[in-house]
Amino acid sequence: MNEPVDVAGRVRPVNDRPVDYNGDYVLHWMTSARRAEYNHALDRSAAWARALNKPLIVLEAIGLQHPWASSRFHSFIIQGMADQMSQFQKYGVRYLPYIEKKPGEGKGLIEALSVNACLVVTDDWPCFITPKIVKAAGEKSAVHLEAVDIAGLLPVAAVPKVFARAYHFRLWHEKNLHLHLENLSQESPLVDIPLEPEIDSPILSASILDKWKMASEEELQNPELFLGDLPIDQEVKPVKQHPGGAVEANKRLDNFVSNLIDRYGEDRNQPEKVSTSTLSSYLHFGHISSQQIWQSAADADAGENGSAFIDQLITWRELGFNFCHYHDEIDTWESLPEWARKTLDEHADDVRPVTYSLEEMEAAETHDEIWNSAQRQLVGEGIIHNYLRMLWGKKILEWSSHPKEALNTMIHLNNRWALDGRDPNSYSGITWCLGRYDRAWGPERPIFGKIRYMSSDNTARKLRIKPYLERWSTGNLFSS
Ligand SMILES: Cc1cc2nc3c(=O)[nH]c(=O)nc-3n(C[C@H](O)[C@H](O)[C@H](O)COP(=O)(O)OP(=O)(O)OC[C@H]3O[C@@H](n4cnc5c(N)ncnc54)[C@H](O)[C@@H]3O)c2cc1C
Repeated sequence: MNEPVDVAGRVRPVNDRPVDYNGDYVLHWMTSARRAEYNHALDRSAAWARALNKPLIVLEAIGLQHPWASSRFHSFIIQGMADQMSQFQKYGVRYLPYIEKKPGEGKGLIEALSVNACLVVTDDWPCFITPKIVKAAGEKSAVHLEAVDIAGLLPVAAVPKVFARAYHFRLWHEKNLHLHLENLSQESPLVDIPLEPEIDSPILSASILDKWKMASEEELQNPELFLGDLPIDQEVKPVKQHPGGAVEANKRLDNFVSNLIDRYGEDRNQPEKVSTSTLSSYLHFGHISSQQIWQSAADADAGENGSAFIDQLITWRELGFNFCHYHDEIDTWESLPEWARKTLDEHADDVRPVTYSLEEMEAAETHDEIWNSAQRQLVGEGIIHNYLRMLWGKKILEWSSHPKEALNTMIHLNNRWALDGRDPNSYSGITWCLGRYDRAWGPERPIFGKIRYMSSDNTARKLRIKPYLERWSTGNLFSS
């Protein structure tokens, strides 16, 4: 048997247990790249299934105990699971969608499934709880477990150091990216893989399926039937405007490259119309890959507008992965650049013209209508327009009694409400407001010191803001 070769440089062994060549199946445990196409980890599982001539089983689970678990994120993931079920059915691959209903109920599932597996393949994602849960699973798995880097176009381990500025990272990837474009993921990795034998010789033990009941098609299609009963944050409600799943992600990509990309450079900062891809939440939950977006954007041949978009997708997005790969503590004050901490410390005791508590900010109760509107959009729709997101963060710094408090407030608000939160780029964006990836600016100002300053008055002059304010000026924030 020829073991598959890791030509893309994305595979990391998580434990040193052997592959069991007599196992019944290859287990693919999907945690971050929640999609059936353009998926390096699925390429790897499919290659193992072919090499071992064993069927593939795909497990996609959602637990109750991850930080900021809410009906908004559950609903987005479950909508994605409904798409996955039909995708995997199409290929004849067994798909196990597991939704934990009581805390702790899902415990032991990976371990139990690993007992009869040849090996387990999972996603490598450098942020949030993923590194911890993958490590723990590696210790418990009965067989070899390997994690495959699914984060971006560049394998994170191929970037040799941490880049402190986007400019230098851009120069580096412009020289090196082409090497990795030779090893792209497959559009359809599941074609021609060995299928499960007919039903009279089941390969999954009935006791596993009895103990851990998989979600039915009806549950996946109608998550509202049970979501309200789960012990998760119910105040953070599902968002109708942004349903989850690969089908919706592909629709948005098609619309963006057909209708919007030609005006990206000009319109992307205007909040009154949707002119960006709105794909960050789909990227975050792995319902679409950056490779597919990059290929479609490149095919659209949109000149400078296309280049501006690809720069966000590669330079800015992958800068966040680069930081997470080299740092465990991405959300701490100490992770900020030294010059930024110094200047913020020097101005920590400056008198603030006004301060607001976390509760006041969360409820959008400040004197600033632009800020309140951005906060209402975050609570109501799970996103904030990008330019306003920068202003939103800068004002939190200005109105908090200490910059460390500002950091914690931004993390809480962004990760609790934003569909694309809890991502490497949540921390890039938030810490950018406090100086990361930026330089010192003059004149030195109260509170901000040498950190770049932004004002709502300037924003109002620069952007066509009126329709946006009208849309988000009122409304009961926490009603559905
Ligand atoms: C305070 C603050 C918090 C932020 N929190 C998040 C977050 O939680 N999750 C998140 O994905 N992004 C975050 N960002 C970055 C940025 O706001 C979003 O990525 C962008 O608004 C998403 O909209 P879009 O998908 O329409 O982007 P597009 O303009 O269509 O760009 C395409 C893709 O490029 C990437 N991208 C675009 N802009 C940036 C950027 N400035 N930094 C990093 N990647 C970028 C995203 O993956 C995006 O989907 C934050 C920025 C700030 C200032």
